[in-house]
Amino acid sequence: MSDVTLLTGLVALLVGLAIGKAWERYKLRDGKWFDRRRARESPHYLLGLNFLVANQIDLAIDELTRAASLNADALEVHMILGNLYREKGQVGKAITIHQALLQRPHLSKLEHAYVLLCLGLDYKRGGFVERAHDAFDEVLRLDPKNEYALVNLQKLHEEQHQWSAAYDTRQRLFKLADVDARPKNEAILAFLENEIGREAMRRKDYAEATVRFEGAIDLDARAVPAYLNLGDVRVLQGDERGAAAIWERLIELAPDRAYLAFDRLEALAVRTGSPDRFTRLCRKLIDDNPLDWRARLALSRHLAAGGHPREALDLLFAALVQNPHALGIHQAIWRALGQLRHEPALVDRYSELTRHAVFYLDPHVCMRCRYRSTELLWQCPHCHDWNTFVEERIAPAQDTAEAEV
Ligand SMILES: [Zn+2]
Repeated sequence: MSDVTLLTGLVALLVGLAIGKAWERYKLRDGKWFDRRRARESPHYLLGLNFLVANQIDLAIDELTRAASLNADALEVHMILGNLYREKGQVGKAITIHQALLQRPHLSKLEHAYVLLCLGLDYKRGGFVERAHDAFDEVLRLDPKNEYALVNLQKLHEEQHQWSAAYDTRQRLFKLADVDARPKNEAILAFLENEIGREAMRRKDYAEATVRFEGAIDLDARAVPAYLNLGDVRVLQGDERGAAAIWERLIELAPDRAYLAFDRLEALAVRTGSPDRFTRLCRKLIDDNPLDWRARLALSRHLAAGGHPREALDLLFAALVQNPHALGIHQAIWRALGQLRHEPALVDRYSELTRHAVFYLDPHVCMRCRYRSTELLWQCPHCHDWNTFVEERIAPAQDTAEAEV
């Protein structure tokens, strides 16, 4: 939370400084340069910026209010003040300040655009979606390459599930971006294309959905949800062989995310009368990567369901060594032990393996804002960024054991 606030504060500051330069040129033209320097050179202004960088918002507001009172004309000081009120959650106050700035005569095009951008952010924060839309559109009319406005417009479209509009907005950003940013932009476009495909799927327009999911995969070969959905479309069209081929391709391209296709592949293998196909797939994944506890867990469930709890339990104990903290493994072990009527030797082995285990339910963490989740999410519900989740793992159990010796 505080990182995000600090970042927004810095962005507000940079916007303020950029507009400050433009304003300076204007003032030079107007012959009133001295007045505006008075606010910028006051110790209150510098103190205010220091507090802002230290994320002490209230103190920053105090000092900047004093700097602003020295010169009512100092546009960027008022702009920053408004932004700080917004960050504090005082959206009404932020809107009043920014609206008043818009009323000033002789605003340059750039100044007008920046004040509108601030106002758009106020509206967005306050939940005034339509007004925020209008403000960002207007910013882009004045300054078509304004990346802040484009990013915020994309997020607004996403929040309203207007996926095509979000896609178009991201494409405008893509065209403005450096070559380095290409993979990230393509990955985001792939997620948006996937959402457009899901809409087509809900309309039962499977042809359109197929085009969209394939488009997402072309944009980003690791667009995992597009593979899952494309396979689902194939199943709906009665092409189960095609579905299996797509999910198996996903597993080859992104073995770390293979587990997301396990349930689908298992159901398909059972339904088509070749359950061994799923067994072979899991065995291959385990051979390729002996640390793959999810493949062991999936295979054990499959074996337990097929009446082989003892083999299942062996796999689960091996999985437990790889990841002693995954609640799913323990639950599967409890079920398998139940099937085996709690054979004392097996129960003892289990309690030996779990002496140091700590369970946790929400191992997925957003790298950007630290939001935690039980499930792997493709878009963070807190910071709304795409593909930011990693799985957090705590130290293996044997480390704890060694530390105790
Ligand atoms: Zn996040």
